Amino acid sequence: ATMPPLLSAIANAGRHGVLVKSAVAMERLGEIDTAALDKTGTLTEGAPEVTDVRPLPGSGLDGDGLLAVAAAAEHPSEHPLARAIVGAARGRGLRVADAEEFVATPGRGVTAVVDGRVVGVGRAEALVGEVGNGVDRMHRGDGMGKIVDRMRGDGDSMGDAVDRMHRVGDGMETTVDRMPRANGMQDPADLTQPPGASASASASAGTTVLVTRDTTPVGTLTLTDRLRPDAPTTTSALTTLTGTAPVLLTGDNPRAAARVAEATGLTDVRANLLPEDKVNAVRDLQLAGRKVLFVGDGVNDAPALAAAHSGIAMGRAGSDLALETADAVVVRDELTAVPAVVRLSRAARRLVL
Ligand code: ADP
Ligand code: MG
Repeated sequence: ATMPPLLSAIANAGRHGVLVKSAVAMERLGEIDTAALDKTGTLTEGAPEVTDVRPLPGSGLDGDGLLAVAAAAEHPSEHPLARAIVGAARGRGLRVADAEEFVATPGRGVTAVVDGRVVGVGRAEALVGEVGNGVDRMHRGDGMGKIVDRMRGDGDSMGDAVDRMHRVGDGMETTVDRMPRANGMQDPADLTQPPGASASASASAGTTVLVTRDTTPVGTLTLTDRLRPDAPTTTSALTTLTGTAPVLLTGDNPRAAARVAEATGLTDVRANLLPEDKVNAVRDLQLAGRKVLFVGDGVNDAPALAAAHSGIAMGRAGSDLALETADAVVVRDELTAVPAVVRLSRAARRLVL
């Protein structure tokens, strides 16, 4: 007997390295007319490396100390940034202490108690304002509130924000004193490429995260991820298939987002998004009549994967929650499988209808 078209499409998708979870999911993939893509772990490899370690003067930590403290707090996390930080600490032969009371807040960062002190790693505004209730309370009422407002207002990279902290005036002396010199800050976007990176893969996304201990910022870590070699081909294939360029939705900073967008030919770029902002972006497109395919990998992407007409998760580095929520999972690590399954679905639907 011949297999029904949607089932043979699922079998074909499997050959492309994509696990499609049902015939309905297979069918919906062919209905999409807009793609929305996550950045970190989706357009980039999701295997970042720590490229800069900057303890703040007065923190009492050197580079190894900062890395060890951050790694201890990140150890329980499955986030790619967390794995990179733990990997860097291990690579330097540092002891990674056991953390207690670990809390991960998707799209924001982590907090944990390390050697009796609350350590936070993540977006500055999240650490100070939202992540970890305890940290939140500790930070309220001191000069950090003003710094956070400045970061929020500008919505730019941590590098810029930390940079600006050196220049801010009244009421910030204690914090300013702990910050490195402005001219000592390295712009994450200026990091040199690893040898062997091809021209199309040359855009790397520098992400700077803040490390806090008790009430105090103690340093920053910069992590650099590489564009997937097949990202530009994939975005142009999706543009051809849907008639419109994909939208880039990321929790990372605008500068890192812009570099990836430029390398992949995308112009609709939304950065600094929290998980709920990604959902809202997908919903807004769908309220405007679009049928959205969302592709992501993180816990932070799960709500958007669920809200989209069709959701595809990147399997290799993808979080369990993303894999469970998606309609399909790219199990072989090839992004070009995404437009391939859309094509397979369309071909099958032509046979069904
Ligand atoms: P994306 O949307 O680009 O895949 P995420 O939403 O996972 O990124 O993360 C957004 C930002 O939140 C990161 O760039 C980082 O600043 C911060 N962040 C999230 N999780 C962590 C973590 N475990 N450790 C440090 N920072 C984190
Ligand atoms: Mg991601």
